[in-house]
Amino acid sequence: QAQVRRGSSHSEECEIQRVKREKEAEAEREKEIVKGYKVPMGRLLSYNRPEWPFFVPAILGAMVDGAANPVCTVALVGSMKAFFKPDKEEMRADLEMMALTFVLVGVAALLGSTLSHGCFSILGEAMTQRLRVAILTGMFRQEVGFHDDPSNTPGMLSKALELWAFRVAVLCKSIQAKAAAMSSLVVGLVIAFVYCWQMSLVMLASIPIMIAASALQWLVLLGASKNENQNITNANQIVVDSVMNARTVQALCVEKNLVHMYVGWVEKSLVGMWRRSLLAGIGFGVSNGIFFFIMAGGFYVASLLIKESIADFEGVMMAFMGIFYAGMGAGQAAVMVGDATKAKVACHDLFQLMDRVSAIDGLEPAATAATPQKLEAGRLEFRDVKFFYPFRPGVLVLKGTSFSISPGQSVGLVGPSGGGKSTVMSLIQRFYDPQEGQILIGADHVPLSAVNIRWWRRQIGFVGQEPILFNTTVRANIMYGLAEGESVSDEYVSQCEKISNLAFLYKNGNNGLETEVGPRGSRLSGGQKQRVAICRALMRNPPVLLLDEATSALDTQSEALVQQALEAAREGRTSFAIAHRLSTIQGCDVILVNADGRVVERGSHEELMALKGVYYNLQMQAQR
Ligand code: ADP
Repeated sequence: QAQVRRGSSHSEECEIQRVKREKEAEAEREKEIVKGYKVPMGRLLSYNRPEWPFFVPAILGAMVDGAANPVCTVALVGSMKAFFKPDKEEMRADLEMMALTFVLVGVAALLGSTLSHGCFSILGEAMTQRLRVAILTGMFRQEVGFHDDPSNTPGMLSKALELWAFRVAVLCKSIQAKAAAMSSLVVGLVIAFVYCWQMSLVMLASIPIMIAASALQWLVLLGASKNENQNITNANQIVVDSVMNARTVQALCVEKNLVHMYVGWVEKSLVGMWRRSLLAGIGFGVSNGIFFFIMAGGFYVASLLIKESIADFEGVMMAFMGIFYAGMGAGQAAVMVGDATKAKVACHDLFQLMDRVSAIDGLEPAATAATPQKLEAGRLEFRDVKFFYPFRPGVLVLKGTSFSISPGQSVGLVGPSGGGKSTVMSLIQRFYDPQEGQILIGADHVPLSAVNIRWWRRQIGFVGQEPILFNTTVRANIMYGLAEGESVSDEYVSQCEKISNLAFLYKNGNNGLETEVGPRGSRLSGGQKQRVAICRALMRNPPVLLLDEATSALDTQSEALVQQALEAAREGRTSFAIAHRLSTIQGCDVILVNADGRVVERGSHEELMALKGVYYNLQMQAQR
C-alpha cells in the first residue's frame, strides 16, 4: 500500500512538473508574440464594419467623460474660494454659479458616459460574436489530420472560441478607456499649467509614480488570477471527464479517487494563497498610500509657493488637482497596455488559426468542383497507395494498397486488426490524402483530390462502429444526413425508416420520430442507435455506402436486426464494408483481404476459401 501511495505521489510530482514546464513554455511563447507581433487593427475593426458609425459617438462620449473630472476641479476650487468671501451675497452668487457648473459637468459626464459605454458595448459584443463565428468556420475548414495534433484538443479549441474572441474584443473596448484617459491627461495638464505652471512643473514628477501605482495594482490582480486559472482549469477538467463518463466512474467505483484528485488541484490553487494574498494586500496598500504621499508632497510645495508669493490658493489647488487627474488618466492608460498584451496573444492565435491553409478544406466552395456531374461516384480505384498519419510519420500504415470497385458492387474488406482497414475508409472519405499513389474515381479516373470535396462526401453514407447521435429527436438526427437546403419527401423518410428497422420507435411508449435520444443517444440501446445511424446515412440517398464494422459492438439479437437493415440499405448501391464477423461479408460480390498495409487476396468467399491463404486462415481462426 505504501508503495502504491509512493507511486501516486511520484506521478503527482511528475504531473506538477509537466504543468510547470507547459506554463513556462506558454509564457515564453507569449513573450515572443508580444515582442514581435503587430495587431492588424484594420482587419480586426473590419469585424465591426456594420457598426462603424458607432465609433464616433463612442469616442467623443469617452473623451467628454474623461474630461469631466479635471473640468470639475474648476468648480470645486471656485466653490472653496467662494466660501471665504466676506460678502455673504457675493458668496451666495458665486456658489450658485458653481452649483450650475457642477450640474453642467454632471450632465455632460452622464451623457458622455452613457454614450461611450453603450456604443462600445455594442461594438465589443458584435465583434465577439463575429469573431466566434469566424473561429468556428476556421476550425471546420481544417482537415481531419489537424485534429490529430495533440495541441488541438477539443478543450483547447472550445477555449479558443470562448476566450480569444472575448479577449480580442477587449482590445476594441480598450479604445474607450484610452480615449477617456488621454482626455483626462490632456485637460488636466492644460488646467494645471494655465493656473500655476510652477506648481505644475513640480507636480509633474508625481505622474510616473501614479502610473507605477496603477500598474502595481493591475499586476497584483493579474498574478493572482493567472495562478488560480491554471489549477482551477485542471480541477474543472476532472469534473467534465467525470460527468461525461458518469457510468464508467460508478462502475469502477473511482468516485473517491476523483474527489481526491479534484481536491489536489483545488488545494494546489491554495498553495501560494497566503503569499499571494499578502503580496496583493501590500501591492494595493502601497499603491493606495502613494496617493496620500503625493498629496503630502503637493501641499508642502504649495505652502512654499504661497509663502514666497509665487502662487495663490486658487493657482496651487488647480495645478494640484489638474495634475492629479492627469496622473490618474495616465495610470489607467498604462493598465490598458497590460490588458492589450493578453489581447495581442489572443489576436495572434486567432488569426493564425483563421489563416491556416487547410490541406483538405471541407468548406471548399462548389465552384471549384471538377465536373462532378459526369463522375460515377461508385467507380473507385486505389492505385499503389502509400500512407502514414501526419502525426505518426514513422509508421507507414498503407504500404502500396491497390484495388478497384465497380458501380453497384458490394465489397467486403477483411484482415487482421491494425492492418489499415479503417484507414482505407478514411482515405475514401478524403479525411487524409495519401503521400504516394492515387485514389481515382469515375470511368475517367479523376484523382479524388481534384473533385469537389463537398460533392464527394455527399455521395457517401457512412455507418461506423460507434454511432454518434446528437442530443435531440430521432427526426432531427436523421435529418443531419441531408445537405444544407436539401429536403426529402415524407414517403422517402418512411421508406428509409422501414429499411433501417426503426419499428421500435412506435413501441414501448416511444414517440415515433419525435423520440428524444438523450445525450449521445444514451436513451437508446446500441442496436437502436446503430439503426438510427443507418437511417441517417440513407437520407441523402448516397450511391456509395461505407460500413465500418457497423455490427461489431452489438449482441447477436441486435446484430441480426442491424444486419437486416444493412442488407436492405446496400441494395442498389456500391457498398464497402469492413467486417469484424466474417459471416457478415460472405455474401459480398468481392472480398478484399488486407494484411500489413496491402491487399493480398481478392475474390468471392468461395474463391478465397479455395485459395487456402490469409482469408482461409482467418475463417479457421474464427471457427475455433
Ligand atoms: P484496422 O481498421 O485494420 O484495425 P486501422 O486503419 O484502424 O486498422 O489502423 C491502422 C494503424 O494506424 C494502427 O496502427 C493504428 O494505431 C494507426 N492509426 C489509426 N488512426 C490513427 C490516427 N488518427 N493517428 C495515428 N495513427 C493512427
